[in-house]
Amino acid sequence: MRTVISVVTSLLIAAPAFASEVNIYSYRQPELIQPLLDGFEETTGIMTNVAFVNKGLIERLKAEGKRSPADVILTVDISRLTDAKAAGVTQSVESSKLKASIPKNLRDPDGHWFALTTRARIIYAAKNRVAAGEVTTYDDLADPKWKGRICTRSGTHVYTLGLLSAVIEHVGVEAAEVWLEGVKANLAKEPEGNDRAQVKSIWAGECDISLGNTYYMGAMLDDPDQQEWANSVRIEFPTFADNGQTHVNVSGVAMTASAPNRDNALKFMEYLGSAEAQSIYASAVNEYPADPTAAISARVAGWGSFSADETDLAAIAARRAEALKMVERVDFDGEPDSDS
Ligand code: FE
Repeated sequence: MRTVISVVTSLLIAAPAFASEVNIYSYRQPELIQPLLDGFEETTGIMTNVAFVNKGLIERLKAEGKRSPADVILTVDISRLTDAKAAGVTQSVESSKLKASIPKNLRDPDGHWFALTTRARIIYAAKNRVAAGEVTTYDDLADPKWKGRICTRSGTHVYTLGLLSAVIEHVGVEAAEVWLEGVKANLAKEPEGNDRAQVKSIWAGECDISLGNTYYMGAMLDDPDQQEWANSVRIEFPTFADNGQTHVNVSGVAMTASAPNRDNALKFMEYLGSAEAQSIYASAVNEYPADPTAAISARVAGWGSFSADETDLAAIAARRAEALKMVERVDFDGEPDSDS
């Protein structure tokens, strides 16, 4: 009897400790977000627990259902954020702080996700074979002068689909398809490999320009085996013809539908949304803070300045199914010369 009472007592004593935690499922490697967790714990005294979930995050939340310990998910790419919302594993968050710190086009209209950082989809150009000003727009990629000179990853990858979705949103389905066919006709080889593999191909002389995300420049420079690839190219920020802006995708945060520590989760999200935290996070991952007033790291700023597309990212994301159908219609991943 005494034992039982003591157990109950210890549970009661333990209760406040449980009330001061927040549980995070992160697609991002723990070391990349550690500075944020440290900053949050110092500021609020709320403990953070992180599970690194780089595959099947949505499936895991669905399987765990209401019993999931997760309060917050941190992930990358608009497709994963919108898929999480569509799967019903997130909940709407109303926060004047987040509304003030995250631009409207970079958060869900219903409050289900908020971007924290952005990455531009840019062109890596061979320093010694592409002159400044030769490629300045996404339209340029379909210009026959690039025939046999472009490398890119698969058309079905979310990064390509994100860009193509944006092109569709800017110019409409028909013009976007003409553009995609033009890009395909210019490919040096079948799309394969990741963004860094394309830069390696430029370094090896197989092509002159490639599509990639900005942060890979940082990742390549940090890898002794890839520094040469990085040093063979420079970043060009292509723009859309209608607004002169560059396509960006995001990393972001959402509160789970089942969040057991809702108040702490909201505090954590609001902390992440602060200009200071966005800067810390963006700097750690070589990205740009979503808040245009937040400081950009000197390294990333050194890659050049650009104007990020202000088109609603949710509207762009809604084009993904159409984009995938288009990639299949033009057989983007097939032999470059088979139908051109
Ligand atoms: Fe990536």
